[in-house]
Amino acid sequence: MAHTMTGYSLPESPREFGFYMDGDWVAAGGREVFERTSPGHGVPVSRIPRCTQSDLDASVASARLAFEGRHWAGLCGADRAAVLLKTADLIRDRVDEIAHWEVLENGKPISQARSEVLGCVGMFELSAGLARALHGDSYNNSGDGAFGIVTREPIGVVGLITPWNFPFLILCERVPYILASGCSIVAKPSEVTSVTTLLLAEILTRAGLPDGVFNVVTGSGGTVGQQLAEHMDVDMLSFTGSTSVGRLIVSAAGASNFKKLGLELGGKNPQIVFADADLDDAADGVAFGIAFNSGQCCVSGSRLLVERSVADLFAQKVAEKLRSVKIGEPLDESTQAGAITTDEQNRTILSYIARGQEEGARLITGGSALNTPLGQYVEPTVFCDVTMDMAIASEEIFGPVLCVIPFDTIDEAISIANDTVYGLAASVWTKNIDKALTVSRRVRAGRFWINTTLAGGPELPIGGFKQSGWGREAGMQGVEEYTQTKSIHIEIGKRSHWVA
Ligand code: NDP
Repeated sequence: MAHTMTGYSLPESPREFGFYMDGDWVAAGGREVFERTSPGHGVPVSRIPRCTQSDLDASVASARLAFEGRHWAGLCGADRAAVLLKTADLIRDRVDEIAHWEVLENGKPISQARSEVLGCVGMFELSAGLARALHGDSYNNSGDGAFGIVTREPIGVVGLITPWNFPFLILCERVPYILASGCSIVAKPSEVTSVTTLLLAEILTRAGLPDGVFNVVTGSGGTVGQQLAEHMDVDMLSFTGSTSVGRLIVSAAGASNFKKLGLELGGKNPQIVFADADLDDAADGVAFGIAFNSGQCCVSGSRLLVERSVADLFAQKVAEKLRSVKIGEPLDESTQAGAITTDEQNRTILSYIARGQEEGARLITGGSALNTPLGQYVEPTVFCDVTMDMAIASEEIFGPVLCVIPFDTIDEAISIANDTVYGLAASVWTKNIDKALTVSRRVRAGRFWINTTLAGGPELPIGGFKQSGWGREAGMQGVEEYTQTKSIHIEIGKRSHWVA
């Protein structure tokens, strides 16, 4: 082991992985291989095969066979629940290993990674209950001669494309719910963060999931991801990532078999702070909302709308908090914000910081990359005097960059909050319940927080309004999304004849 930090190590050489199909590993063989370098340390950590179209076809065929064979879809809810509960136990047993790989490939802090993985345990536990509770409907109001039943049936083979910012968490906000519905899955993780999706495949098999129900193809989005979106034998695709790739996914579905889509896309989420808020709590929440995961969250609170009377004071409070965030070595237990996950994302964030300065916004803290020998880190950054016509105020940066925009009235706050093509999440900070509820009703976003941010639980559905996406994941709604209803009409008694 090359380097030890609080019990975790960097590998001396990158570990080789295969992809996962039909309940087993498939070695890379002669396929091209992608080598991942740890963004926090700059050392190679994993090598993953680049799957071909025929690997994808074989994986989809395996998922199809498992589905049509009713190996999973045909089980009773209790049997599906047993596998999901066993999976929860096995994830708990391997929490350190999974968290370690999240750090190596994503660059997030180890303590955060561990708590995300433990959160995923709860998603599997809840989904076990949902598998048993899933049900249809009946209509007993059609008179004595008829009876109606509405069944919920699993939609079939689901493609699942996930991003690099929360490789395991976003996966587990989907997989247990999809499995609870009875569907089979072909997952395609981001090429740069594939390992923990592969580990989940191995865990599911050990937990008793029938072969072929969960398969993982690896490789880049532009190749195997696009092929999955275009595949004629995939019934539904869940995509999480950028709005621009979301558009390609919609086109691919339209040009192929009209597969149903679930899309969770970008956000430019407002944090609305009124002068009557507990400003210390709010400053802490706003700092957390922009610096957590180094701002690489689709739900990051990247626009701070603050009542003008406290705007300067409050911006300084947030800046002070951000200057105290511990950034750096992700394997250090006390680190709060880790690395920027990809080189491209690092360049994007730094170019937006330069753009903010060119556009005339006032930088009050941060603004630079950290000067570290290894890895890539950006200081949490705050811009004041931001107006909505600036690119930094309207475009998703996906980094620790906060834009401060003052407002005078509640109507103005709501109007600025809604002045975006996105509608993923929003927060309000106030001690006045009327203001909190008014804002929560009128801001167009799929997730809303009052006096907190980036909070939730496995029961609450997630997803966006407007260009932030379609459909919902997690909770019972997240199971139902992967079903389709069938209306069964039953005639009771003697038919009244049409032909005399
Ligand atoms: P992408 O949208 O490119 O990637 C998300 C996922 O889609 C990855 O698995 C990627 O694979 C895959 N993908 C890429 N191109 C295609 C395609 N043509 N067909 C099918 N799948 C594809 O996001 P990036 O990683 O490039 O990040 C760019 C921006 O996206 C960020 O700056 C941020 O604004 C936003 N983003 C939003 C996220 C969210 O949670 N809403 C998450 C991540 C990013 P691969 O990585 O292997 O290429």
